[in-house]
Amino acid sequence: MEKKELICIVCPKGCHLEVAQENEGFNVTGNQCKRGPVYAQKELTEPTRVLTTTVKIKNGILNRIPVVTEGEILKESLEDAMQILNKIELEAPVKSNQVVIKDLLGSGVNVVVSRSMDAI
Ligand code: SF4
Repeated sequence: MEKKELICIVCPKGCHLEVAQENEGFNVTGNQCKRGPVYAQKELTEPTRVLTTTVKIKNGILNRIPVVTEGEILKESLEDAMQILNKIELEAPVKSNQVVIKDLLGSGVNVVVSRSMDAI
């Protein structure tokens, strides 16, 4: 039976998980709470991540501004998401939580600005 090792990233404890795939699902050991097995199964079947990055902004006090997805998106779509965000240029002023992209790549998840920025 093949075993995989993962580090749980759900909380700062970072438990070292050992995951064995069995007929009925996954057998997870090394977790200190119930969230570990949930994370392990998701990570091995459909891994997702929150994307945080910056986009260009003109007429603001800085020339880039941080943005974040409001939820997790598929890990495999992070590169496509970055290509889209690299083409975005906002214009100040912007408000924190202002939507930059609705329904990113059909994920149902919006990208929002994570801070406000005044115009110069
Ligand atoms: S298994 Fe539980 S305690 Fe361990 S890192 Fe994951 S969430 Fe934290």
